[in-house]
Amino acid sequence: MPMQKDIERVLITREQIDQRLDELATQIHDDILAEAPSCPDNGTPIIPDITLIPILTGSIIFVADLIRRLPLKMQIRVMSVTSYPGTSTSSKGASVEAALTRLPERLDGHHVLIIDDILDSGNTLKVVKEIIAKKNPTSMRSCMLLRKQRPEAMAETCEYVAFDIPDEFVIGYGLDYDDYYRNLPEICTLRPEVYENDIK
Ligand code: 5GP
Ligand code: MG
Repeated sequence: MPMQKDIERVLITREQIDQRLDELATQIHDDILAEAPSCPDNGTPIIPDITLIPILTGSIIFVADLIRRLPLKMQIRVMSVTSYPGTSTSSKGASVEAALTRLPERLDGHHVLIIDDILDSGNTLKVVKEIIAKKNPTSMRSCMLLRKQRPEAMAETCEYVAFDIPDEFVIGYGLDYDDYYRNLPEICTLRPEVYENDIK
């Protein structure tokens, strides 16, 4: 079944995403290099241990596109957090899915970058940060594809944000409604008829 008919409008195009990801990757790369100590012998930067922590499932497309723009040695350790189960279009509280989470016991010596699709109520990021902080990383930053312009989202510390968007429910480029539409290449809004009957 074609999914295009369920789209209300395109908010962010494929070209805008590509261009912004180039900028974001350059910024992240430059920040890591700027903080890296230099080798006393030849002055080249000593790249620290980098661990990327993508939050499943919404970040999959974003992280796949971002990491291919970051030519650095890094580990990837996923976490799975659910807050919009099934046909919800508002947060039902963040809960970690242990079976799909692959964090090491400790993160001592590691510079952590948390990657997620969207900062909305901020609950997911808060929960994730608490869990990671207990593992004692050297540093912990976060990188969001989207941030909704609502006070709770703006109040949460987040070092990298690709796009600030209006406070609307969006789909595509990894973001779902009832686990559909993640494969849309652009970030879109959904026609209200699609979810009106399901609102929970
Ligand atoms: P928060 O915990 O900040 O309220 O929400 C974060 C999670 O809720 C996101 O990782 C995402 O899974 C889901 N979410 C929040 N807003 C949206 C939205 O507009 N569209 C979709 N598809 N998911 C959202
Ligand atoms: Mg999510």
